[in-house]
Amino acid sequence: MYDTIIIGGGPAGLTAGLYTSRARLKSLLIEKGFTGGQVMTTEWVENYPGFEEGVSGAELSQKMEKQATKFGLEIIQGSVADISLNDNIKKITLEDNTQYETKSIILATGSNPRPLKIEGEDTFRGRGVSYCATCDGAFFKDEKLAVIGGGDSAVEEGLFLTKFAETVYIIHRRDRLRATKVLQERAFANPKIKLVWDSVPEKIAGDDSGVQSLHIKNIKTAEQSRLEVRGVFIYVGYNPNTGFLKGLVNLNENNYIITDENMSTSTPGIFAAGDVRAKPLKQIATAVGDGATAGVAAEKYIEGNF
Ligand code: NAP
Repeated sequence: MYDTIIIGGGPAGLTAGLYTSRARLKSLLIEKGFTGGQVMTTEWVENYPGFEEGVSGAELSQKMEKQATKFGLEIIQGSVADISLNDNIKKITLEDNTQYETKSIILATGSNPRPLKIEGEDTFRGRGVSYCATCDGAFFKDEKLAVIGGGDSAVEEGLFLTKFAETVYIIHRRDRLRATKVLQERAFANPKIKLVWDSVPEKIAGDDSGVQSLHIKNIKTAEQSRLEVRGVFIYVGYNPNTGFLKGLVNLNENNYIITDENMSTSTPGIFAAGDVRAKPLKQIATAVGDGATAGVAAEKYIEGNF
């Protein structure tokens, strides 16, 4: 019997685990892939306080994991298939049928890249279509690439891709970027980046060797054109990983978990933290804040003070 089980090992989950372990709660963290979550696939992080020169996503993830396990957090790899409730005891079943019992749960499952759902996206996934510049950028030395989206991810990863690529087209559906100003300034100043405004991708085309071109349409003029690119990096937002919850806690209209300011969900003893939670700002800095709050809330819940 655990005091708390944390599902998801990104910054929110690892911080929750740091706090619950330091509170001497018997704590287990279950992670499906690798700890660090989306940070692990981020090349460079420069808006997380305490690292004035910035820090690589991989290093930051490893530091967070080491810090939490130092205080006793157990981490296992596994994919949660089901959660059932029996009075105050919560039972978690993994896909391999392993079961764990716990008094409280912290949901920190984050979100996954949202697909564009255009022709060619699935066909060329892994053969030129990518959702991770850090993972795949180096395969495209001196090539022309397209990045889809106008948010922080698209611009930040587009800038990263200029280390390898000859040209990076950033295709955005409006005439103004959503990304934070400092990233915009860098993109405008980078000669390898070419912004393609008011345009949406329609089709990714290629052959046996992978992607050869991206078909786009200007939504103001209806003009269609084709960009000769070998890679298409898609950054059009994220979907929360809440499908496995099957009605266990209340979600909002976009399937993010609704919590109060203590990270409590609609079900007593179940808390949520990080990108999986409905909130205005999704950053590493806000994820760790959520994790700390959820960890302390779980402690209070177990002590009966909640
Ligand atoms: P986002 O902020 O939701 O931006 C998604 C972008 O994709 C928007 O520009 C959107 O256009 C565009 N888009 C959405 N659906 C589209 C479609 N079907 N076709 C074409 N374009 C489409 O997502 P994100 O950039 O991944 O960021 C997610 C969160 O993480 C944000 O809170 C962000 O601040 C944070 N983040 C922060 C950093 C950082 O601080 N360094 C880095 C990465 C991410 P519109 O603008 O027209 O809606």
